[in-house]
Amino acid sequence: MNTDKEHAEEKMINEAFQGMLNTYLASKHRKKVDIITRAFNFAKHAHKGVRRNSGEPYILHPIAVARVVSEEIGLGSTSICAALLHDVVEDTEYTVEDIANLFGPKIAQIVDGLTKISGGIFGDKASAQTENFKKLLLTMSEDIRVILIKIADRLHNMRTLEHMAPNKQYKIAGETLYIYAPIAYRLGLNKIKMELENLSFKYEHPEEYAGIEKKLAMTQAEREKLFADFTAPIKARLDEMGVKYTLLGRIKSPYSIWRKMQAKQLAFDEIFDILAVRIIFEPKNPKEEANECFNIYIALSHLYRTHPDRFRDWVNQPKTNGYQALHVTLMSNHGEWVEVQIRSQRMNDIAEQGVAAHWKYKESGYVEEDEVDLNKWLLTIKEILDDPQPDAMDFLDAIKLNLYSSEIFVFTPKGDIKTMPQGCTALDFAFSIHSVLGTHCIGAKVNHKLVPMSHVLESGDQVEVLTSKTQNVKPEWLSMVTTAKAKSKIQGILRREERAAHKEGERLMTEFVERENLTLDVHNTARLCRMLGFSEYEQLLIAIGRGSVTLGDAERSVLKGHSSSSNILGRLFRSNKKEAVDDLHLPIGHLQKIDKKRPLILTDEALQGSYHMADCCHPIPGDDVLGFIDDDGQIVIHQRKCPMATKLKAAYGNRIVAAQWSTHKLLHFSVSINIKGIDGVGVVNQITNVISRELNVNMERILIEAYDGIFDGTIRLRVHDVDDIKVICDNLKRLNNIRSVIRIDG
Ligand code: MN
Repeated sequence: MNTDKEHAEEKMINEAFQGMLNTYLASKHRKKVDIITRAFNFAKHAHKGVRRNSGEPYILHPIAVARVVSEEIGLGSTSICAALLHDVVEDTEYTVEDIANLFGPKIAQIVDGLTKISGGIFGDKASAQTENFKKLLLTMSEDIRVILIKIADRLHNMRTLEHMAPNKQYKIAGETLYIYAPIAYRLGLNKIKMELENLSFKYEHPEEYAGIEKKLAMTQAEREKLFADFTAPIKARLDEMGVKYTLLGRIKSPYSIWRKMQAKQLAFDEIFDILAVRIIFEPKNPKEEANECFNIYIALSHLYRTHPDRFRDWVNQPKTNGYQALHVTLMSNHGEWVEVQIRSQRMNDIAEQGVAAHWKYKESGYVEEDEVDLNKWLLTIKEILDDPQPDAMDFLDAIKLNLYSSEIFVFTPKGDIKTMPQGCTALDFAFSIHSVLGTHCIGAKVNHKLVPMSHVLESGDQVEVLTSKTQNVKPEWLSMVTTAKAKSKIQGILRREERAAHKEGERLMTEFVERENLTLDVHNTARLCRMLGFSEYEQLLIAIGRGSVTLGDAERSVLKGHSSSSNILGRLFRSNKKEAVDDLHLPIGHLQKIDKKRPLILTDEALQGSYHMADCCHPIPGDDVLGFIDDDGQIVIHQRKCPMATKLKAAYGNRIVAAQWSTHKLLHFSVSINIKGIDGVGVVNQITNVISRELNVNMERILIEAYDGIFDGTIRLRVHDVDDIKVICDNLKRLNNIRSVIRIDG
């Protein structure tokens, strides 16, 4: 045993703990150093001898999580202790009772919540993660500190992700992007949300991440000059006004830049809002801070021209995550628009620390963590959980929808204000008020004008819901709503209705079989389904129950010719169903054949046989990709940025395999490109010339539309890889009339 090394590690651990403790001592919390030190010593003892993947002593992880909890989220001693102890119950022999005896019931309860969430996350059940996620949300609505600590835990794991195998990296990065970043955003932890997204991006698209970082570094001097020139008159003016302030340059994160480049198909140089200026001021009178925001705005508007369409008042109408600030966009003397964000110190703390910062500003001297109110959003989550959706993906979608939506304000006929997500319809509004109102909705009056229930609402609309007693929920309503609440309510009602129809269908079928002296087995029911156009027998039963299929002569002749025993029916289909479930789990057993720790190598041979290219994102060699093992044990290759892949990572992370290309321009893949430009004689000729003559690429389909002197064309080509696409796009861009050439999905 190396005692020198032991000493060095002991020193490192104590220093890490002291560093964490210092952040706590600098906060406004009551100084409960004693219990924190006890928690540290206990955790250190419990994790003794265990190391992380990086080789570090394990205890450094809980210390780091506690530090995030204290320094970056601003929580107090209870949370710090729970963070220090968060992996003890899961990874060591100590129990929740031990924790309760030593540290009291509150800390034990939080540790218990944290243990429940993480238990089984790497389990083999396909939906285990979704189950986990539900648990996480449930525990969160009991004590929000559980989720805040969980986010800190995730942040530290993301910061140290380099030590994990690539397939785990994708799974963790995907989950982070799909679940943790939205939750962090919703709780107002904007800084952490940004870091989580950025780290996920870094692991999913390392090259693109590095590319953006490099360009940011290259343009840094330019931005610094712009910042200095632009802020000099602002500083002078604020000083004159006697405002105490800090001026910061906010640089857009590589992830946000990349998102914008993707969404709007822009090049890096075309992103103009990489730099924003932040003015954080100390209000002279805390009660007047809103007015002071506006005074600063007025002063700025005398210095620079303001952009009429880009003024956002989050001061009087805070976002639901608590965010407050005044956003204005000004024309710099260099001729560029620059966004300026004006916030008081309090608003800034809330912008960065969200819910946790609210405690800091309680009127009473010391703050008590337990005073946190569960906000409205948590109640919505509870409502969604009360009506659990059977489909893991739907569930994740519903939650995500709810996490990321931006808001509009809508008025009831009585003038009450309601906050709704952008893009919501009159039907969403009806369900948001009461499910009875939603269920019987036939339309609405928006600003006294009659509109259908699918009408999309705008901020400031006054909405009156119109109902009829005879109206009832229909499946097509699902496409008319966007809120999680309305969706889950409609699905709930439809499912109940479906169950009733299924039961009725079963009854009618049994009756029919008995009356006609028939028998049912797997083969003749399959034939019956084929004849009537159903892929599943259950669906057929539902249709029978609803009365859209009636059993008669044709059905009798399909089922005829077997000995009869009517009650075999139930048994048969119950057992049949069970087999289906086992089938679903079988491939996971098969997975042993695939070494998930190693990346799949996508060779030309493998691509012709074993692997399947996803239809949603059509990956081709050169794209950032990953493999997903589907229910049949087949490997499907998705682009890493594909929205479907993101969902799969979050819902079935343990079926993700890293993948790398190793192709040699042997196979062809279909890819579509979109070309926009100025219409003129011979443009189409020029384009096809470049593609088929100069580059000798085969075209599968051309679709060109021209209107008002503009043309817009989509061409499907056969190429080997992304390099081919790049050559094609570059060559086409050189044509005179062409304005943009981009690859599109599909
Ligand atoms: Mn942990």
